[in-house]
Amino acid sequence: MIPKATFPHATDAEWRDWRWQQRHALTSAEALGRVVPLTDAERRGLALAEGRSRIAVTPYYASLMDPDHPSCPVRMQVIPAPGEATLAFGDLEDPIGEEPHRPARAIVHKYRDRALFLAVDRCAVYCRHCTRRRITFGEDGAFDRAAVDEGIAYVRAHPEVRDVIVSGGDPLVLSDDRLEAILAGLRAIPHVQVLRVATRAPVTCPMRITDDLAAMLRRFAPLFLVTHFNHPKECTPEAREACERLVDHGVPVENQTVLLRGVNSSARILGDLFERLLTFRVRPYYLHQGDLAAGTSHLRTPLEAGVEILERLRGRTSGLAIPHLAVDLPGGGGKVTLQPTYLLGEGEQGGRGHWLRNHRGERYFYPEPPGRDCTCPYEEVYYGGADGALDGARADGRAAPEGET
Ligand SMILES: *Cc1c(COP(=O)(O)O)cnc(C)c1O
Repeated sequence: MIPKATFPHATDAEWRDWRWQQRHALTSAEALGRVVPLTDAERRGLALAEGRSRIAVTPYYASLMDPDHPSCPVRMQVIPAPGEATLAFGDLEDPIGEEPHRPARAIVHKYRDRALFLAVDRCAVYCRHCTRRRITFGEDGAFDRAAVDEGIAYVRAHPEVRDVIVSGGDPLVLSDDRLEAILAGLRAIPHVQVLRVATRAPVTCPMRITDDLAAMLRRFAPLFLVTHFNHPKECTPEAREACERLVDHGVPVENQTVLLRGVNSSARILGDLFERLLTFRVRPYYLHQGDLAAGTSHLRTPLEAGVEILERLRGRTSGLAIPHLAVDLPGGGGKVTLQPTYLLGEGEQGGRGHWLRNHRGERYFYPEPPGRDCTCPYEEVYYGGADGALDGARADGRAAPEGET
């Protein structure tokens, strides 16, 4: 760990000031080289990244880098590898097919009831595994007042949208006032039930989570803050304080981890991370299989690696500490989840049932009840009719993927 003393000009007050952290972000090989001795590969990666992507590391996040080991998970997340400049089989500029679902500059609308609201093209720290680099590098200034107003108007005109995820870029690079204006605009729409704010600030710039910010977010409840821890090394006292401040103010915090080869692709590392997050009162929500973002193949794992990790976690740690493993399909297919297979097949043991296995691989028979009809007779009474939304989604005869438009 690098002492804050590496940044000798910072007073304690400056260090704790998120604006100072953002203004003093390390953005060049020269600046990063003053904090850690860069390897030849890192220097090559940094040179190749020029003109392709943005680089920024807050002094706080840089202080977590291990100067002795280039395999440090913090270094690997922020210093480009030479492989980033190479396109692998299947790599895509728009890896999860968002552009065809972008009815307004600020909106990605893929699922009928949920919309993604792109609030800004900037981040305090740029991740090497970024899935929206086409936006964080290339849509300079696209998210001005007009884009925000257009995005809010879109949500207002779509009564089916009940959940809006404010993302970007990282919306917490915006001032409290600008963020508040966006959230207030969305909250004023009667059909918007739930808001989410997707941000890495608790990880990359925990001083951003001030009492004022947490109190402001609480005013827009129900609002969930969704953050992005990838390694136990990121679980510092400062990060804990940021998460606890949010929860203490009444803002639930969820975490999305990206499975990264050589960074966190291990059941020990992820189990440790998820258990620590629970102690921060943060619920591990998704473990994301790497998207096919151009230049990130060296950080992606084979699909079965994630399933194997879940297999090892089940039975070994709290169910609360086990996220869903999600694959966001290329071409805009949306998210699907993967799981180890516990259901072995049907069987007869004096009656109908199924064979299952547990996390130790032992086989158990689950006898089935008589009959298969699961209709709830009171449902139609309670809702005053059949489930029209479901029927409508299937009117074209296609099998509607779960949760999709
Ligand atoms: C991931 C995502 C969502 C939210 O999905 P949940 O499974 O509800 O968390 C919404 N819109 C888009 C475009 C997404 O990529």
